[in-house]
Amino acid sequence: MMKPPTEEAAAAPITVYWDIKGCPVPDGYDPRRVDPCIKRYLRNLGYSGPITITAVGVLSEVPKDILEAVSTTGISLLTCAYDPTDMIDLSLDYFQLDPTPSNMMVISSLPDYVPPNFVNENGRGGYYDIFPFPFDSTPEAAEYLWKYSLLGLADPSVLVEEDNCNDTSGESVRWVCPACHDLLGQGFENFITHLSSPEHEHEVYIKKPSLPNLENGLTPVVRPFLKP
Ligand SMILES: [Zn+2]
Repeated sequence: MMKPPTEEAAAAPITVYWDIKGCPVPDGYDPRRVDPCIKRYLRNLGYSGPITITAVGVLSEVPKDILEAVSTTGISLLTCAYDPTDMIDLSLDYFQLDPTPSNMMVISSLPDYVPPNFVNENGRGGYYDIFPFPFDSTPEAAEYLWKYSLLGLADPSVLVEEDNCNDTSGESVRWVCPACHDLLGQGFENFITHLSSPEHEHEVYIKKPSLPNLENGLTPVVRPFLKP
């Protein structure tokens, strides 16, 4: 059971990193529910700050209809050259660029190592962590998280959170490609075009590690657009 947030954390912005390949929405669930259901989940826990959700992974390998569905509900896209092996590590690289106080939630399989001070209800210098991960890396754990926690809490008919005033057209989708020198973009079709461009394929090719699992697939960068 999650503890209620401190007064400072409750009012602070929340950044959610979602490993969309490692922890996909279960079959039969509308991916457009992810954004409003995560927001509802956080509001139910007592958080009132602005919420930014980013889907992370090799997004060229995610079905286009799922990507489009989640992105048009206001979720940003961050495509990696290769799948991240440690979402805590990757997220902390980005998270610690945020002004304090701020909150982070990661949705991914549990990595092999969790820093001992990662879960600290008093915050780490104003940085607060919000669980959940799934508790292990099996597909069943991911499915359980979605069905009985993130998606299970909300009315299935809920598609739009009351504070979600985003333009839900594909043109408003925000995305970033760290492989291509932190290229920032807007618009879903522009994103799809970028993924299949020779320039992108070249950058991904030369950034693939010669040995697997040595890096998490991203270089820490400033990410000016990922905030509301
Ligand atoms: Zn690119």
